[in-house]
Amino acid sequence: MQAHIHELLAAVPGTARQIHSFHYGPDNAPGKVYLQASLHADELPGMLVLWHLKQRLAQLEAAGLLRWSVVLVPLANPLGLEQVLMDVPQGRFDNDSRENFNRFFLDVSQQVGDCVQDLLTDDPANNLQLIRSSLRQTLACQVPATQLQSMRLVLQTLACDADIVLDLHCDFEAVQHLYLSPDFWSQVEPLARYLGARACFLTKEAGGQSFDECFTLFWAQMQARFTGRFTAPGFAVTVELRGVADVDHGLARQDCQALINYLIQRGAIDGHAPPPPPLLHAPTPLAGVEPVISPVGGLIVFCAQVGDSLEAGQVLAEIIDPITDHVTPVICTRGGLLYVRSLRRMATAGMTIAHVAGPKAYRQGYLLSP
Ligand SMILES: [Zn+2]
Repeated sequence: MQAHIHELLAAVPGTARQIHSFHYGPDNAPGKVYLQASLHADELPGMLVLWHLKQRLAQLEAAGLLRWSVVLVPLANPLGLEQVLMDVPQGRFDNDSRENFNRFFLDVSQQVGDCVQDLLTDDPANNLQLIRSSLRQTLACQVPATQLQSMRLVLQTLACDADIVLDLHCDFEAVQHLYLSPDFWSQVEPLARYLGARACFLTKEAGGQSFDECFTLFWAQMQARFTGRFTAPGFAVTVELRGVADVDHGLARQDCQALINYLIQRGAIDGHAPPPPPLLHAPTPLAGVEPVISPVGGLIVFCAQVGDSLEAGQVLAEIIDPITDHVTPVICTRGGLLYVRSLRRMATAGMTIAHVAGPKAYRQGYLLSP
């Protein structure tokens, strides 16, 4: 294992922050896996999973069983992790720019395409190497202006030439779910089964240039421009490891074992993995997700649990106004799996209090939370 330290641009003199990456596996490995946790800083279940994975990978490496390179970044956002305002962590948005930490990763597809277009040969494997090499060089030439930009650039650079990119997040109160492009479903399905994911959301483009999509969309651009001229590069997935409070050794060991089983199945680790268990829930379009909104402010009392299947029109919460005694039922209009609930229990009018995964796409445009 090699530990690398990546210095971030200092925001002010006399301060320093770093990204720490841990690199396992042989030199000149035939494949690369990249995993990071807690890009939204206070989403911590993935950090514990990667801490367990560090110990397991050290054992596997010592036993000579790692075939691929595996790169771990267990603490992807030291900047956000230090943002605590009056005892409340502020890990989703950068306090300075107000930007979501998981947006605005770089789109360098135009530059890379221009660099390689006259160099591609008839050898698809060689062309993939060429594109990856140009991608690394193009990212290396970027000059970040802020600490946030330098942090994003370090993470994007570490992951850019990986065959498998897993970005570990969590939601407020949630069952485990994945976000990915439908193009990768056949590769990701065994991962969803090993993890026991309760929902998988498919979209070509959710908007916002999030971490997984900076790779997904880069390769889609390359495919569109150089159709059939390079071998498939792999995939990137966002894995939501349940809710923010689900930081638990039992769950983390289970998730860590699921990741190892998947990597064995992919040939990244030597060994025998059990066959993946059945898929718990068929993938659904991200455009089929209903953000359930409370029309009024008041005390939220949920009447359904995460993991419940809801009918169209079913009440999932009551909003109570303790002044007027009005009780406002909140329904989901379309039906589906209740996979996320808010942690807050005081609604403001217009607030999204839950998300329900419906089977049919009905939304367009930007599909993510702010
Ligand atoms: Zn997140």
